[in-house]
Amino acid sequence: MHLARLTLVLAAATALAHSADAPAPIPGAAPPALIPGLAFIDSNYENASPLWHEPATDGSVLVHLLYDHERASTNRAAGHIRFTIHGTPGARLTLEFVNLQNVYNGRAASVAPSMRTLSVSDDGRAWRVVPITHPAPGRARATVELTGPLLHVARIEPYGLPELAAFLAELRASPLTEITVIGKTVQGRDLEIVRLGDPAAPRRVFLRARAHPWEPGGNWVLQGLARRLLRGDADAKKFLARTCVWFLPMANKDGVAAGRTRFNALGKDLNRDWNAPADPALAPENAALERWLEGMIAAGRKPDLALELHNDGNGQLHVTRAPSPHLERHLARMAIFEKLLRRHTWFTEGATGPAFRNTGTLGEGWLLRFGIDAVVHEFNTNVITVAGEKVAPLGRHWEAYGESLATVFFDYFGETAP
Ligand SMILES: [Zn+2]
Repeated sequence: MHLARLTLVLAAATALAHSADAPAPIPGAAPPALIPGLAFIDSNYENASPLWHEPATDGSVLVHLLYDHERASTNRAAGHIRFTIHGTPGARLTLEFVNLQNVYNGRAASVAPSMRTLSVSDDGRAWRVVPITHPAPGRARATVELTGPLLHVARIEPYGLPELAAFLAELRASPLTEITVIGKTVQGRDLEIVRLGDPAAPRRVFLRARAHPWEPGGNWVLQGLARRLLRGDADAKKFLARTCVWFLPMANKDGVAAGRTRFNALGKDLNRDWNAPADPALAPENAALERWLEGMIAAGRKPDLALELHNDGNGQLHVTRAPSPHLERHLARMAIFEKLLRRHTWFTEGATGPAFRNTGTLGEGWLLRFGIDAVVHEFNTNVITVAGEKVAPLGRHWEAYGESLATVFFDYFGETAP
């Protein structure tokens, strides 16, 4: 009797809740206030960062970035920032980014100190940079102004799948290029490798960009490099007579599309585990690249040099001291490469020190397993020194870097034997 009565009461309560279609009120809780000038934050598009937001008591907007998690690991990463603010023209909004407590290589570490600039744009095409401040350790804030009804916000000037598609279309129009689909991402997107130049050229260089989705710098670099090599002038002909260039422009397309920070769609870090064959089920992006590399080696076309392009807050060349029988040769060559980067580009950050190991990265893995002079090249997202001036980098700065890389490769292969 008692149970039946309880069931009736519960059924009535459920019906009432459903008919009102309302969640249960929380006694004593007030809803968050509206933030003056802010109508909406749009993060519902390709490459936008998954997030939610709420007002802080001081009127700023707390932007909660969602962590990107690594599979079977405690590692997690936030730091990709891309969304669009809808609001009142003239409004000034202070954004504070929350959830910057990353876990990197198994250690808890805040990404806040390495975030020193934020890029904004009124139209999504022309970008400018505003400073990020750190009112306390682990906190990252920036004040932005809406000059119109929309403001695009990004960690650094974005480069997404539409930009890549346009670039590949441009490359396809040249008789000097060949684009090969070497496999597919976890979610079925094509993985393209571009060959630029004569495959029978005496020297070969390979570059890969965008293993980590938040880091678009490498895409801008490749765009600058390719356009320089396709210019058709005497220098371009000279470069291509010595060197053929191959590159995989966007390794982690799924992560870029989903606006994630670091891992692929199954939680694998595509710049880890290169010390062993890639798992084709969990990291098909790496397995496809490895099959391509093995084919190149079998055809007598092993790359002489491989660059793995990344962004971080330091911008160094990551020269590993791995136990390779080729280590001495490798260090000598990387010293030449660093010297040429300093000579021909705006690179000033230098290489990592004598105790540095880069375990699991493409740089170290290709050196240890294939004897290739491979190295991770980070590009500083915050500040670079161009002609003695400190500036916050935008896409065009990285494109200029890529242009200059053509000269670096020419001289590098002039100074190093095959
Ligand atoms: Zn990276």
